[in-house]
Amino acid sequence: MGVFRDAAGKVLKIQMKKVYDIIIVGGGMVGASLALALKDSGLSIAIVEAFAWKSQQQPSFDDRSIALSYGSKKILQAMSIWPDLKQRCAAIKTIHVSDKGYFGVTRLHHYEERVEALGYVIENRVMGEVLQTRLQTMQQLDMLMPATVSDLSETAEAVTITVDCGAESIEMQTSLLVAADGAMSTVRNLAGIAHRKSDYQQSAVIANVSVEKNHQSVAYERFTSSGPLAFLPMTEDENSKPRCSVVWTINREDQDSVMALDDEAFLQQLQQRFGFRLGRLLKTGVRNIYPLALTESERLVKDRVVVIGNAAHGLHPVSGQGFNLALRDVALLAEKIQRQGVADPQSWLDDYAAARQKDMNRVFRFTDTLVKVFSNNFMPLAHARAAGLMMVDCLPSLRHLLARQSMGLVGKMSRLMRGVSL
Ligand SMILES: Cc1cc2nc3c(=O)[nH]c(=O)nc-3n(C[C@H](O)[C@H](O)[C@H](O)COP(=O)(O)OP(=O)(O)OC[C@H]3O[C@@H](n4cnc5c(N)ncnc54)[C@H](O)[C@@H]3O)c2cc1C
Repeated sequence: MGVFRDAAGKVLKIQMKKVYDIIIVGGGMVGASLALALKDSGLSIAIVEAFAWKSQQQPSFDDRSIALSYGSKKILQAMSIWPDLKQRCAAIKTIHVSDKGYFGVTRLHHYEERVEALGYVIENRVMGEVLQTRLQTMQQLDMLMPATVSDLSETAEAVTITVDCGAESIEMQTSLLVAADGAMSTVRNLAGIAHRKSDYQQSAVIANVSVEKNHQSVAYERFTSSGPLAFLPMTEDENSKPRCSVVWTINREDQDSVMALDDEAFLQQLQQRFGFRLGRLLKTGVRNIYPLALTESERLVKDRVVVIGNAAHGLHPVSGQGFNLALRDVALLAEKIQRQGVADPQSWLDDYAAARQKDMNRVFRFTDTLVKVFSNNFMPLAHARAAGLMMVDCLPSLRHLLARQSMGLVGKMSRLMRGVSL
């Protein structure tokens, strides 16, 4: 059964209707980050989350690892969370992009951008532990979990939601309702916001793989005929061997056969696709599979409802943009809330949505183009790709543009993005 708890975990008395300044539905990577960005706002906040945080089914803090961009690091630093994350991350100092079967290669280096690292890799579970520990220190936060939203109604002054927790249903009221409940967002649907979905007919297999040679903090993005294959640098494994987080995109029709391979056959196939840049692939951890689709909410705001994270935009994992884009949603939304309050959010929500839509469109174009251009075996296009990679590698200005996109340093910068606290 779901229970109301304050941030310290104390069970609260359940009243008939609880009133909050902000309710965040979805306490995954994005919902939890937003609550933390608002920790000094003085506003009362509730998180409604479908799974207990330590549950193995928690879909946000699962076996994946996430590549945090340099821009995300700045946001997390301004939120004072970075010191807890830094020691558990692996730095990305170089990004190496190649196309299997062709010569072109592009390399982006941290020193050319004058930063310590272009990005960082952290396990989702570790990120979850850090965020949850921090949330427990927030006085003005209540957490309701496991609990889901089943109804929503609005007046000009407030939004009321019905929350089901076990056998009980509770009404909760708020000035601003945030949908951070993932790509299948219930809140988005209940608020009457449509979404578009386009299936890539691809799936991503993820696994942590121990490798023979030190990765030297290089993130490899290798385009293959079935889609991109990423080897991201991680901290060492339990035997002090170098380890990488692998995201291998395959055609949907191959997913059952790839998941059915034993570990040795899986490593062999992976080695054949990736090559020997990191020596032999030695050992694989648990494999998981994610069907890939582009989902896009038709609107980011409606009345007193705002949609963020995967609920607003579900992306292909190529070049690791999804959470980084979402953290920029969080940064601007928290700034607007802090400055303009939630009594009359309609006065600023449209400005917020316009700013975020631009960034979202840019990232959509970037990832979608990469997937479509690099998953195409049409010979003239493949040669143009190889030439394109070589050209980017030779031209510092193009390398810089690509590096800025990968580092999440594009468009108008909110305060947190500039590293300034709210
Ligand atoms: C294979 C793969 C690799 C990726 N790698 C990267 C990367 O390297 N870098 C990067 O930036 N991004 C990456 N991403 C994207 C990243 O994982 C997402 O952007 C991020 O998880 C979005 O978080 P979210 O909190 O919005 O949604 P989710 O992670 O889906 O979380 C939603 C939360 O809402 C809860 N919930 C759902 N429904 C309800 C409900 N009705 N009521 C209450 N709670 C509910 C869920 O339990 C969950 O906790 C990757 C994605 C994939 C699939």
